[in-house]
Amino acid sequence: MAKVYFLIGGNLGDREQILQSTVEALGNDVGKVLNVSAIYETEPWGFEHEQSFLNQVVVVESNLLPEAVLDQTQRIEKDLGRVRKKNRYSERTIDVDILFYDDLIIDTERLEVPHPRMGERMFALAPLAEIAPDFIHPLMDKSILEMKSSCPDTSEVSVFKV
Ligand code: AMP
Repeated sequence: MAKVYFLIGGNLGDREQILQSTVEALGNDVGKVLNVSAIYETEPWGFEHEQSFLNQVVVVESNLLPEAVLDQTQRIEKDLGRVRKKNRYSERTIDVDILFYDDLIIDTERLEVPHPRMGERMFALAPLAEIAPDFIHPLMDKSILEMKSSCPDTSEVSVFKV
């Protein structure tokens, strides 16, 4: 069994309901949900949009291999109506990122784990620090709390719902 850490979030539609449906889908299709963070409200990152994002970290115990986890998360994103845009940063119904898969380091064409950009994004580090402050990032060799303290991201991240 592996512990898989996901960051889920979106800024379109009924944002809270979509997060809830995503947690349910992860529980049905990936494994047992062990923990969820509070829901955080965050500014759009890298582009302008009037609607802010809701983000949450979810920890799931899974017997799926990493690529099979990605198959499931991509299907969940599709099922929940994500509209893929040409822009890398765009508004979306739901995005599911794999932050960690135990302490494995994966670098394939489809999958990079730990997620390469989490260290510079407070919207990932804030919810992660809430539920896994002492987890050591296997590449940075730093705890999540240390990474959060040294994160240069100044965008606004606040608790939306506990
Ligand atoms: P995005 O549009 O940011 O959601 O990126 C989706 C793409 O990132 C997909 O093609 C995935 O194969 C790829 N990808 C690479 N690493 C990861 C990861 N750790 N979690 C989710 N998607 C990933």
